[in-house]
Amino acid sequence: MPEAPGPERLGALSTFRLPAAAHELVVLEHPEQIPALPDPTSGSDLILGGGSNTVFLADWPGRVLLNRIRGLRFESAGGDAVRVFAAAGESWHGLVRRCLDEGLHGIENLALIPGSVGAAPIQNIGAYGIELDRVFEGLTAWDRERCRWLRFGRDDCGFRYRDSRFKSGEPDRYLITEVVLRLSRSFDPDLSYASLRGALDRGGIARPDARQLVATILRLRRHRLPDPARLANAGSFFKNPIVDPAVARDLLDDEPELPHWTLSGGAVKLAAGWMIDRLGFRGERINDAGVYANHALVLVNHGNAHAEDLLRLIDRIVGAVEERFGIRLEPEPRLVGGSPALVEPQPRAARR
Ligand SMILES: Cc1cc2nc3c(=O)[nH]c(=O)nc-3n(C[C@H](O)[C@H](O)[C@H](O)COP(=O)(O)OP(=O)(O)OC[C@H]3O[C@@H](n4cnc5c(N)ncnc54)[C@H](O)[C@@H]3O)c2cc1C
Repeated sequence: MPEAPGPERLGALSTFRLPAAAHELVVLEHPEQIPALPDPTSGSDLILGGGSNTVFLADWPGRVLLNRIRGLRFESAGGDAVRVFAAAGESWHGLVRRCLDEGLHGIENLALIPGSVGAAPIQNIGAYGIELDRVFEGLTAWDRERCRWLRFGRDDCGFRYRDSRFKSGEPDRYLITEVVLRLSRSFDPDLSYASLRGALDRGGIARPDARQLVATILRLRRHRLPDPARLANAGSFFKNPIVDPAVARDLLDDEPELPHWTLSGGAVKLAAGWMIDRLGFRGERINDAGVYANHALVLVNHGNAHAEDLLRLIDRIVGAVEERFGIRLEPEPRLVGGSPALVEPQPRAARR
């Protein structure tokens, strides 16, 4: 088992690249390693995949389990359906590409989301109008509390917008080792998302094939989001808040341009990036922690940001949005060692 003694540098293992260290780091390459893991020599365990949704605001006093378990297989599921069994340490975008090559459809809209397959169910990754749960069939995980292998079906996972039982319920309890997707040999794309439809229309593509769809998504994402290899970031830093229809109506009376989406059930999702942009935060910096100049929802590390810089920037944004719109933003990435006030959802404050 490849295991190294701590303290281990974590900066390079997270795409936001704040300086931090762990007491101990274990690289997992085979599921069989997991039941045999000794107790951590200090503190508790934190599970890490690609580190693209984890921001280290402090050192981790325990052990980091770095998931690098690889493997992919395909199995016919009758008719056009194909089950894809993907080990948790596979790259998500690598999986999208491989499925494209195999002529399997259903995850094109989720192309270029960084990170690992095992983290995809954690926040039910979503982009351009679809979320993972649309194609998700099940997963295998090691229950670290009760020391047993478990299989979860879709209904067991508590999938919601950027959330699941694994993210907000019991983080680090279940170590996911394999995810099963149900894809199709027939191509029936969802092109309903406005910016995607707009980009296809501008390109004169009424009915894209799967490769054209992925190419369009890649162009849109590269234009809008910084490449973590060049500018450290964790993607969207805040969730789009979901509010009651009455709250949304009140807000939209004052801010009719605020982009919003009515969800099934009537609740309304509001564009957090628009609110941040409206307050003039684009390009703002506190030392090397900043708001990305092209997209106000993305916070970046210009090189030498420290946790204090980022925390001050978050505080400033959250405070200003709450004061102006009466909405309390919640961070989307996992903030390790952050203040509980930021990490735990707050009751929404009364407007103004
Ligand atoms: C530029 C950029 C763009 C992004 N765009 C999107 C987007 O469009 N949509 C979207 O939804 N997200 C997006 N993200 C966020 C991120 O890519 C996803 O959340 C991704 O699934 C995280 O994968 P990871 O392996 O890097 O997770 P990590 O950061 O390593 O882990 C995230 C969480 O999952 C847990 N975890 C990881 N692996 C396992 C496992 N095997 N078992 C149990 N728990 C585990 C960790 O403990 C942590 O709590 C973006 C991020 C960046 C940097």
